[in-house]
Amino acid sequence: MSRPAIAHIRLDAFRHNYRIAKQSHGGKALAVIKANAYGHGAIQCAQAIENEADGFAVAAIEEALQLREARITAPILLLEGFFEAAELPVIVANDFWIVIHHLWQVEVLLETALAKPLNVWLKLDSGMHRVGLSPADYSEAYSRLSQHVNVAKLVLMTHFANADNLNSDHTQQQVAVFQETITGMGKLSAALCETSLANSAGILSWPQAQGNWSRPGIMLYGASPVSERLTGQALRAVMQLTSRIISIRKIAKGESTGYGSIFTAERDTKVGVVACGYADGYPRSATTGTPIAVDGQMTRLIGRVSMDMLFVDLTDIPNAEIGSQVELWGDQVSANEVAQSAGTIAYELFCNVKRVQFKYSDVG
Ligand SMILES: *Cc1c(COP(=O)(O)O)cnc(C)c1O
Repeated sequence: MSRPAIAHIRLDAFRHNYRIAKQSHGGKALAVIKANAYGHGAIQCAQAIENEADGFAVAAIEEALQLREARITAPILLLEGFFEAAELPVIVANDFWIVIHHLWQVEVLLETALAKPLNVWLKLDSGMHRVGLSPADYSEAYSRLSQHVNVAKLVLMTHFANADNLNSDHTQQQVAVFQETITGMGKLSAALCETSLANSAGILSWPQAQGNWSRPGIMLYGASPVSERLTGQALRAVMQLTSRIISIRKIAKGESTGYGSIFTAERDTKVGVVACGYADGYPRSATTGTPIAVDGQMTRLIGRVSMDMLFVDLTDIPNAEIGSQVELWGDQVSANEVAQSAGTIAYELFCNVKRVQFKYSDVG
């Protein structure tokens, strides 16, 4: 017998979500599978949609090379481009596409001799102020790149800072800056170049901000970056994190359990111990009351999450016993809710999952 903590990765759900992303956007979709597909397994996820994906996006060349080694032949965009000039021959040899987000990259690209021209996504800082060329630098970089032998094709892109906030008009402002900048570059550029603006939140909530290429990430894994209401439950959770009850005890009203004794029973309480802890990626910051399902019934986390174990309230689940299945997140328990209760986001929960067994399934 082995430790029962398991991340079930349902690749059919991943494919379903990719189709939803593509349909909602209406254009081409680069599946964002950086950071090992947000902790889900980049190669498995890529293989699940390789026959239909328009391309993939990863953070860096190391991630992209793993995909090529797994014989993924679709386009792969490096979202931060290259970090040093020495990567350029490898980028060319593997047909990677690159984001250019800073003037130093423009200079290096223009002064390096390449065996073949590259597909370049030129990133505008339209208001997020993280990476991207300023509107003032953008058109000059565009005209230098567009006439250069090293550049096969230019895609004009930007990234939203607040697309998940429906009450903010920042996304519309960013779209306006993007449009103005492109228009200022002349009719030709705007007409000739493809564009890319939307991440998952952009796809789901800003239909006027789409462009030719979308870049869905979190929604592919079934977690909505905006309220679940908006996505109409159409997305399916890809990861189901489960484990089992390994110990049960009763504590009397007023007694405490676990490190720091931070949980004190408000009533006589049946406490289950689950083989999953923060070393598996369950957030230590999750607080008493965080939803958990035991044998299909909803209950709550209690006490402090430890490295290998956590506590669950079984008082109202009389049939729960040693070996009962526990869902930490997945179909019944939304990762978004767990994340919220832990003061973080589902993205971070997924990326942190480790040590558990990964089991892949794909039905149809
Ligand atoms: C990570 C990333 C995405 C995907 O964002 P989600 O919010 O996960 O959809 C899209 N574009 C860029 C530039 C990114 O870095």
